[in-house]
Amino acid sequence: MTIRQLTDTIINQIAAGEVIERPASVAKELVENALDAGATRVEVATAGGGLSLLRVTDNGGGIPADELPLAVSRHCTSKLSDDIHDIRSLGFRGEALPSIGSVARLAVRSRPDGADSAVEIGVEGGRVSPVRPVAANRGTTVEVRDLFFATPARLKFMKSERAETSAITEVVKRMALAFPAVRFALSGTDRSTLELPAVPADGEGLLRRIAQVMGSEFAANTLAIDAEREGVSLTGHVSIPSFSRGNAMQQYFYVNGRPVRDKLLAGAVRGAYMDVLPRDRHAVVALFIALDPALVDVNVHPAKADVRFRDPGLVRGLIVGAIRHALEMSGMRASTSGAD
Ligand code: ADP
Ligand code: MG
Repeated sequence: MTIRQLTDTIINQIAAGEVIERPASVAKELVENALDAGATRVEVATAGGGLSLLRVTDNGGGIPADELPLAVSRHCTSKLSDDIHDIRSLGFRGEALPSIGSVARLAVRSRPDGADSAVEIGVEGGRVSPVRPVAANRGTTVEVRDLFFATPARLKFMKSERAETSAITEVVKRMALAFPAVRFALSGTDRSTLELPAVPADGEGLLRRIAQVMGSEFAANTLAIDAEREGVSLTGHVSIPSFSRGNAMQQYFYVNGRPVRDKLLAGAVRGAYMDVLPRDRHAVVALFIALDPALVDVNVHPAKADVRFRDPGLVRGLIVGAIRHALEMSGMRASTSGAD
């Protein structure tokens, strides 16, 4: 046997296996890139459940022409300097675009701030084409066609068009909650149209965005949360006990603006409602945790939304305490002195 270095395309396809599971993963990566670029408008267009087309257009800072080839190269990022403990952007691995380009037909079109023309680069199944001038407005458009054409085995695992579209919709909603001041639009060939106008980036704006994304009924049946403990802050909205769900799907958690799914957080919410909700009912929540980036590890898995807190007990205590306090203040829970 001979030991050989894998080709870039194979390396990228292996990475894609981790990062790009389905069209919704592409949507997540591209929307994150748009937000990292400071966009105030993000438009997502899909066809065929995102498999035949997924296009994200933003009005963010753009990519300089000479950096376009780097943007589609592995381990190239404009976001992380040399401290993995200080991640302030949504992306930082420099993996998404090369991974997508290795399994699909990718076109990145960008006109950065100050430039008077736009350029485009294409990648098809790992093959990069030369940069060429195109006409485009300020900002960036990333277009992904024929996802997984280069890895047919992965294609077999796709669910129905409808299931993929609804997963994409969920991605957009989840991100939109964290960025109320950004206008989001989602359009597709099916009924998947979503229009989320920008709202002010304050408490009232957040409640309006919550109403847009989670429904006005939830927005009308919430308690506001605003607490702080040892430099960790918690804000957002949680449902009153009479407004509960049969599953925990409508629980949105964010850490420093990044959507996360976490057993610890879900468990803390369950604990907070223990006395006021039956075991099989779940609160609806949108909760935002902000803390020093050094106190949380977001580098757990490329695609999964896992996080690890340096002090999980502190975060749990903060959530349980703040929700119970809100319930007590509104008279929906008898006050007790004990913590959880
Ligand atoms: P990462 O987001 O981890 O840096 P990506 O592969 O997603 O890696 O993107 C690579 C680089 O391309 C980014 O660091 C950024 O500089 C640039 N880029 C990608 N999408 C956009 C966008 N929509 N607007 C501006 N720059 C972008
Ligand atoms: Mg990225």
